Amino acid sequence: MTIDVEICEVGPRDGLQIIHTFMPTAAKQAWIAAEAAAGVREIEVCSFVPPKLIPQFADATEVVGQAKSVSGLSVAALVPNFKGAERAIAAGVDKLSFTLSVSTAHSLANVRKTPDEQLAEFQAIVATLKTLPPERRPLLSGGLSTVFGCAIEGEIPDATVVRYAVALAEAGADDVSLADTTGVGDPAQIRRLVAAVRAEIGDMPMALHLHNTMGLGLANVVAGLEAGIRAFDSSLGGLGGCPYAPGATGNIVTEDLVFMLESMGLRTGIDLDRLIAVREIIAAALPDEALYGHVQHGLPKRWSDLRGGSHVAAA
Ligand code: ZN
Repeated sequence: MTIDVEICEVGPRDGLQIIHTFMPTAAKQAWIAAEAAAGVREIEVCSFVPPKLIPQFADATEVVGQAKSVSGLSVAALVPNFKGAERAIAAGVDKLSFTLSVSTAHSLANVRKTPDEQLAEFQAIVATLKTLPPERRPLLSGGLSTVFGCAIEGEIPDATVVRYAVALAEAGADDVSLADTTGVGDPAQIRRLVAAVRAEIGDMPMALHLHNTMGLGLANVVAGLEAGIRAFDSSLGGLGGCPYAPGATGNIVTEDLVFMLESMGLRTGIDLDRLIAVREIIAAALPDEALYGHVQHGLPKRWSDLRGGSHVAAA
């Protein structure tokens, strides 16, 4: 089936990283399998950070192992540094999501390295990937965080963002992903920065990772679409945040994003009714966590027949 917009579910990583209650491994596995069954083709399933820093990801290798058995699923994992990348490669991920914060203060708080030191880690990962046989080589996503503003430093100059995007592209990234880590970006800024980066990195694939802190998440998606972006991260139930980005709330809600895109005639390959049902797995495993979103309250009459739900399932 033709897909117009790729959605990467990041809830099991971005959503869980600030939740102190350990989500049982079996529940994570059930969540991942159920979303894949609903048609989600890529899931960022965990982060390869030291378990003593974020115990939530102590089971990263097991989670990747199970996710790899789900047919047709691209299994991504966040890797904050070279060591994390080594563990993720050993676990067999399909995609390494590396992140470099363009804010020095956020970068130091998050990974205790400056942006330039993070760039050196990225280059070391590329060098290691080149030693692997092609069939064992995961894709490497070059993610930039705090692109649209930092909770500590405030606004980041566009030129800084463009410089690091070019550096990741030149170093060997397979795509460049721009993250609004704190959710303070606005549609005009999205259009401006996507165009500025696009002008320098040519036709390399680009993605957006958006948070909904100020309620502009879906407006920013539309701005991204207008600027030519066809890949977005989102999180089921809008789980998410960053432990080192004070005030950042959840990611954009996967269910609402699918509803908007499918309503606009953009195919995601995702069955919205089945996707909404996956919320029950999270609610049961993490009963104290708030789940966000709108479309779970009920879809417009006949929407499912026309655009999603049984229509997609039957296709
Ligand atoms: Zn995020």
